Amino acid sequence: MPLVSLKNVLKPAFENAYAVGSFNVINFEFLEAILETAESKKSPVIISIAEAHFRFIKPENICPSLTAMAGRSGVPVVLNLDHGMSLPVVSRAIRNGFTSAMFDGSKLDYPENLRKTHEVVEACRPAGVSVEAELGSVGGNETGGMEAEANPDLFTDPEQASAFVRETGIDALAVAIGNVHGNYKGEPKLDFKRLERIRDRTRIPLVLHGGSGISDADFRKAIRLGIAKINFFTGMSQAALSAIRDRADSLGAAYHDFPLLMQEVKKRVAETVAHQMDVFGSAGKA
Ligand SMILES: [Zn+2]
Repeated sequence: MPLVSLKNVLKPAFENAYAVGSFNVINFEFLEAILETAESKKSPVIISIAEAHFRFIKPENICPSLTAMAGRSGVPVVLNLDHGMSLPVVSRAIRNGFTSAMFDGSKLDYPENLRKTHEVVEACRPAGVSVEAELGSVGGNETGGMEAEANPDLFTDPEQASAFVRETGIDALAVAIGNVHGNYKGEPKLDFKRLERIRDRTRIPLVLHGGSGISDADFRKAIRLGIAKINFFTGMSQAALSAIRDRADSLGAAYHDFPLLMQEVKKRVAETVAHQMDVFGSAGKA
């Protein structure tokens, strides 16, 4: 089916207490692994491309195949810009057929985040593109290998979230409740009370970034409290790396060893995605 908007897949997820995984694509192997798994799991799926990853994969190059692949698929697929940092990048995503854009104004002060997020909503609406924004700041770095710890001073404020959602008109809100990007330093401790207050005051689908490293039990609890989209990348990247490490010693010099290695990478990424779809409860929902 043709690509659908984020709003379209998050509404039933939010209402029926499951979450749709947002999986980052950095090459063709990841893309095929994610889409084929969504199909076999009968799960809606969000394919994300982060602005920070445009240097690995240009939207202009991948989007035509991605759109065609989604069109041939029997499950709803959203194409989401992950952490777009400016309006020109969001416009570039719209031109390339994205159906959802996350604008990340989390490093800006509140009035500036509000103003710019509203601008993005105005630009996306006519194109039928959904908008996700972030309030508070999810720690860590989605491109780095450092271990990160959440800073409670930057957690999302429930009252502010309520005003932010009302004034910007966004479709989904990324929250900072103890989650971080990349690898967690120690065990992640999610502030579930805060999450519940944010849900009660905003009543829109909430988004959990930094999904790699959170326990299955914590995921399920977060989903019951309003998380309807979960961003997941680090775990796939680690699965790909371990596939390469495991095979490195047995690699021969035959020309086909490289494509076979890539096939193994794809298989491991697919296994990781399949597990997450089961945990998020999206399997069987398409
Ligand atoms: Zn993120």
